[in-house]
Amino acid sequence: MKKVLVWCISAFLFALASLPASAGTYAQTRYPIVLVHGLFGFDNIGPVEYFYGIPSALRNDGASVFVVQVSATNSTEVRGEQLLTQVKKILAATGAAKVNLIGHSHGGPTSRYVASVRPDLVASVTSVGGVNKGSAVADLLLKVAPPGSISNSIIAMAGNGLATLINILTGGSGLNQASLAAAQSLSTAGSLKFNQAHPQGIPTSACGEGAYSVKGVAYYSWSGARNYTNVLDVADPALSLTGLVFGGAKNDGLVSSCSSRLGRVIRDDYAINHLDEVNQMIGLVNLFETNPVTLYRQQANRLKNAGL
Ligand code: CA
Repeated sequence: MKKVLVWCISAFLFALASLPASAGTYAQTRYPIVLVHGLFGFDNIGPVEYFYGIPSALRNDGASVFVVQVSATNSTEVRGEQLLTQVKKILAATGAAKVNLIGHSHGGPTSRYVASVRPDLVASVTSVGGVNKGSAVADLLLKVAPPGSISNSIIAMAGNGLATLINILTGGSGLNQASLAAAQSLSTAGSLKFNQAHPQGIPTSACGEGAYSVKGVAYYSWSGARNYTNVLDVADPALSLTGLVFGGAKNDGLVSSCSSRLGRVIRDDYAINHLDEVNQMIGLVNLFETNPVTLYRQQANRLKNAGL
């Protein structure tokens, strides 16, 4: 009897061990997740994927994930049309009715454009460190005075930081004409103009929340509010300099917390900077804050629980 019992338990354990390893379901959203890159001059950082380690983490948790490529540097409208074309391809390939767009930096407004012109194809827009009301750093790049009273010496220091950062992110190739179109879109004036045509989810107060849902599209956002987070990350000293241009307002080094706000604000003050928001450089982030990859997993779970 005892032998039979041992045999039964062994057989059961063997059967259990033989089952194929199945992915989790924590991030298994109803609609595919589309990650949309941003920021001046890069699709990838050298050979490194832009959303570092994030697609694989989401897939391990059961999500269907697509990483799109739009112009590294161009206006929001041009990038938005490129994204729309790719969204249609993803829908055709998967048979899904809609997508969940998650955009970082300029990817935020780019995603908003698609949701504005084709809300029927979009379940949600999530803006991460999104340049939704412009960036004083883009203003600096265009040599229009950043808002607030900032001394010339600080503007000069921030300008040096920006030049260093552009070198790091573009591999030293610098900026081209299209970069200036991007900077126009990311400037305070350019963003306000864009928002007049595409206001969905934008807070109506200076630093509030926006509508949680517009025309069936759910809007979410989060961002960081630190500049220097990891001594090993070569970008951090530059982000500390560009962060000066915000005159003490909470920012992630390139975007102010208030500008990042869209729809339902999950948080605008994680202790992470603009590159940490996509787990760069190569995972060098604040060890004493929630890992950025976890933030994407949590958002996918949030979307899943919302039936999106
Ligand atoms: Ca970092």
